[in-house]
Amino acid sequence: MAECIVCNVCEHPQKYENALESKEIYSNVRKFKDEKFTVWRCSNCHSLHSKEDVNLDDYYEHYPLKQHTVNYATRCAYRNRLRLLRKHGLKKEHTIIDIGCGQGVFVLFLQQCGYKAFGYDPYVEKYADKKNLDNLYDIVTSYEAIEHANQPVEFFRQFVRCLRQDGLVVIGTPNADKIDLSDPVEFSMELHQPYHRHILSERALVNLGLNAGLEIVKVYHRFYFDTLYPMVNTRLLKAYVRCAGNYFDAMFEKPRFGLLLTSPQLLFYFFAGYFFPPKGHITVFFRMKPGT
Ligand SMILES: [Zn+2]
Repeated sequence: MAECIVCNVCEHPQKYENALESKEIYSNVRKFKDEKFTVWRCSNCHSLHSKEDVNLDDYYEHYPLKQHTVNYATRCAYRNRLRLLRKHGLKKEHTIIDIGCGQGVFVLFLQQCGYKAFGYDPYVEKYADKKNLDNLYDIVTSYEAIEHANQPVEFFRQFVRCLRQDGLVVIGTPNADKIDLSDPVEFSMELHQPYHRHILSERALVNLGLNAGLEIVKVYHRFYFDTLYPMVNTRLLKAYVRCAGNYFDAMFEKPRFGLLLTSPQLLFYFFAGYFFPPKGHITVFFRMKPGT
């Protein structure tokens, strides 16, 4: 891969030298905390790009998300994902594939709920078999994945290739429009360097879908992690991670209840964080246009 100095997600690609803004951002993974990366904003579509060419294999080898499992918090958050999928038509007889599924935690959750769910992730041995992409599905989901892709347009195309007529594509990802580069501490989870290669603006994401022959069904700006269950909301998660040193790792390590019990702010958000939703995330439901 070469360094990214031209926007690769917009119709009038702008260059790094004409960036609307750029900033050196430190990695929020503890092992790489002293490394910084240039993030710049396209002056046309306002998407964010990580500029330097890095060997991501090294970074993924020590990726904290490898410890991801089904637990209380993921179950609550995934119930939220499932609620929206059902609202938009998911039925038990449908097939669903989660692309960029990581350790397959959501796939497993759906299977446990009785759905015919499959996963694909080229970086995880269990889900790396491309055969699953040869089938057609009623619903294709991809959460927190497209921002990791070096080529978001190509990544998006594979959603459409395995989509059945009238099928749904659901993409959840950070929203570049809501990320303030001048406050990298607040937005460390969304910026997540160097793993997030291209963070799309709402316009750029919507255009990817339209250009692929899809139409918009609904855009949600609330993160699926926002629930009314105690402890499971984005405001608390962000505040907790920040108190724990602002490392991504904190989300997958043993919970530090001592931090919670000694912080009035965290205790407040533990129960009421849902009512203070941070902005910085977007989920778009697309549908294949009839006759496409
Ligand atoms: Zn652009």
